[in-house]
Amino acid sequence: MNYQQVLEEIAVEVAPLLSKGRVVDYVPPLARVPLEQFGMALRTVDGRVFTVGASGQRFSVQSIAKLVPLTLAMKLHGDAVWERVGREPSGSAFNSLIQLELEHGIPRNPFINGGALVTLDLTLAAAPRTAIAEFFSQALGAAVQVEREVADGEARTGHRNRALAHFLKSFDNLRNDADAVLDAYFELCATSLSCEELARAFSYLANGGVGADGTVLTTARQAKRINAVMLTCGVYDEAGDYAYRVGLPAKSGVGGGVVAVMPGQYTVAVWSPGLDARGNSLAGTMALELLTTKTAVSVF
Ligand code: GLN
Repeated sequence: MNYQQVLEEIAVEVAPLLSKGRVVDYVPPLARVPLEQFGMALRTVDGRVFTVGASGQRFSVQSIAKLVPLTLAMKLHGDAVWERVGREPSGSAFNSLIQLELEHGIPRNPFINGGALVTLDLTLAAAPRTAIAEFFSQALGAAVQVEREVADGEARTGHRNRALAHFLKSFDNLRNDADAVLDAYFELCATSLSCEELARAFSYLANGGVGADGTVLTTARQAKRINAVMLTCGVYDEAGDYAYRVGLPAKSGVGGGVVAVMPGQYTVAVWSPGLDARGNSLAGTMALELLTTKTAVSVF
């Protein structure tokens, strides 16, 4: 497969979309990101890396980072994780409150904000706060950077996330101090990485739990299960459309990044900051759709 040629064709074909989306604006440093940018990096499980565009430029990974506390919670607690959080698609926005009330404080899945707060809480109950950045750094092979201005902005504007945390607490589904869990959440969202770095950090999901440097980060079974939850829940209320158009497990973030996994073959990361109405990268989704169309390989 000539991945390099495929990526170069994709970059040309998504160009008309780059001006169309909307950059998120709830935090000033995110609102300042110029709209018309695109980068993509694909890393095969045997370590070959293919890139196009701004693949080395760091951006705010936001909800993509929710993969880390889910992985850690599963490592630390096994199947007990699913007593505190569901694994069904939510069909609603990532920061919706209404479902949580109706479902008695059990978030639908670990990728909506309430679910990520629970996996962080589970992680913090069994490991020190530093374990989150340590796992992320180990998977990447370098220290992950938190953008302080973004983390502070998240903390200042994160009223819905605070509401979700206290709501969870009222149902006794948050054991740590709500502010401690929220601080960990805001920092996690403010992690800044490039497509090349994301493709490396999440290569364990394509390679049966084995990280880019050969370290075993999860069991093969856990990696398979994380991919399954990504496929059904990774892009919020767009999961059905993603399965239909892209056909890969994927996790998006409002910074405009998306990580997708073709198990046994590659991890790909794409970035374009213009979002669609559901908070997923407009050109990023099209790029992934083109990738599985041009290579004629998807999980289906
Ligand atoms: N920081 C954002 C929030 O909590 C992350 C959301 C996202 O990337 N979908 O609202």
